[in-house]
Amino acid sequence: MTLALLHDQAFIDGAWVAADTGATFEVRNPATGDVLARVADLAASDVERVILAAERAQVDWRERPAKERAKLLRVWFDLIIAHTEDLARLITAEQGKPLYEARGEVAFGASFVDWFSEEAKRVYGDVIPSAGRDRRFVVLKQPIGVCAAITPWNFPLAMITRKAAAALAAGCTMVVKPSEETPLTALAMAELARRAGIPAGVLNIVPSKDAAGIGRLLCEHPIIRKLSFTGSTAVGKLLMRQCADTLKKLSLELGGNAPFIVFDDADLNLAVTGAIASKFRNSGQTCVCTNRIYVQDGIHDAFVAKLTEEVARLKVGDGAAPEVVQGPLINAKAVAKVAELIGDAVGHGARVETGGKAHALGGTWFEPTVLSGMQASMRLAQEEAFGPVAPVFRFKNEAEVVRLANDTRYGLMAYFYARDVNRIWHVLEELQFGMVGINEGLISTELAPFGGIKESGFGREGSKYGIEEYVELKYACFGGL
Ligand code: ADP
Repeated sequence: MTLALLHDQAFIDGAWVAADTGATFEVRNPATGDVLARVADLAASDVERVILAAERAQVDWRERPAKERAKLLRVWFDLIIAHTEDLARLITAEQGKPLYEARGEVAFGASFVDWFSEEAKRVYGDVIPSAGRDRRFVVLKQPIGVCAAITPWNFPLAMITRKAAAALAAGCTMVVKPSEETPLTALAMAELARRAGIPAGVLNIVPSKDAAGIGRLLCEHPIIRKLSFTGSTAVGKLLMRQCADTLKKLSLELGGNAPFIVFDDADLNLAVTGAIASKFRNSGQTCVCTNRIYVQDGIHDAFVAKLTEEVARLKVGDGAAPEVVQGPLINAKAVAKVAELIGDAVGHGARVETGGKAHALGGTWFEPTVLSGMQASMRLAQEEAFGPVAPVFRFKNEAEVVRLANDTRYGLMAYFYARDVNRIWHVLEELQFGMVGINEGLISTELAPFGGIKESGFGREGSKYGIEEYVELKYACFGGL
């Protein structure tokens, strides 16, 4: 199969460029093991030049009227939509998710470009009522400057647009270091940005196997004024430490440990549908995937039975094949982690309702799994599985489940299903998470702020708040009037 929009060089200052050393690294299809491309493996010395190019480009970019930037972003959006099929095939090839999910990601990722093309025109400042007859107070919002993004493999397209579109809309330029697992989608997006007429140097993509070396440079470089990172909490903390010396602004979208609570008064069918949607999307490999399912006594057995029945039916296979809803996991390490966490739970008394082991297909496929009889002491209660395993815990009352749900250092996403309005409002206020889905298992949208609290990070992406991450406030006092 030939893949359209396939590029294997870095995109720097508007041009396709090899690494100085000529080094490359392999990108493989997790379903077939095939090598899709050998991509330029940039070193820190290559990236140094990119940062300077982004700085040069920013001068013109920030001076353009917002309306002009908006128009270019809109053309980029139109091109992304026009190439939905090419991009979706690329995402499935390098990341493994089923094609229908990949198409969904293109639409979702593109929606941020659409949204921020409009928000570009609405970065309003303020006039503050003055304290004296002879002076006036004004607040300007100005682009931060050159920004960097480090992105993960689970959404190779959307994790880039929700950062880059906001940055570009605000008048910043950006250097993106995509995941070494999925650089091809990022490079395809750069090609479409080039065709859209986004000027050279405004958006740069620097693939590299040396995530730590490039990461350090991006954190420590004084020209870069802001870093936006999506990935694991451990790496997020490291980056924050590395950014301390230049006091960089940061947005960190880190790990989660999402509880999914089903109260006795919930709609059973809705809850099961939501649990599957939130748990098994991308084979469980998203930071907002349900990690712990808490079900109240009265509805517990019926819920487990229905969930098990439906999970057992999920079709596993190559994401490029029709009707497949569960693709392979990203790599062997991911499979080992899921197997280990299930082993821990079962070893401590959990019961496998369905699945529970690596799939007969081999490779990195894993059986969609439901566990019951889960206890708070098991590792799955605290660790993000990032795989297709749904562990069910039984609970008795509201106070108990709120305590259990909050008993985590993460605070990204929580879901709960209930109908009693008093309970809904009360539980919503008590949950310590940046986002809460109530009777809904999929809530990400460009229209609303995405982000976490506690060790899930800080900063928001999408919505009217997303662009604020890329502007600085400047207070001006006009005196002597
Ligand atoms: P995941 O477990 O989802 O792969 P990571 O945090 O390891 O999460 O990866 C997310 C992104 O962070 C990827 O682009 C990866 O290359 C990058 N990364 C990994 N380690 C480092 C590091 N030490 N410094 C900077 N970036 C890193």
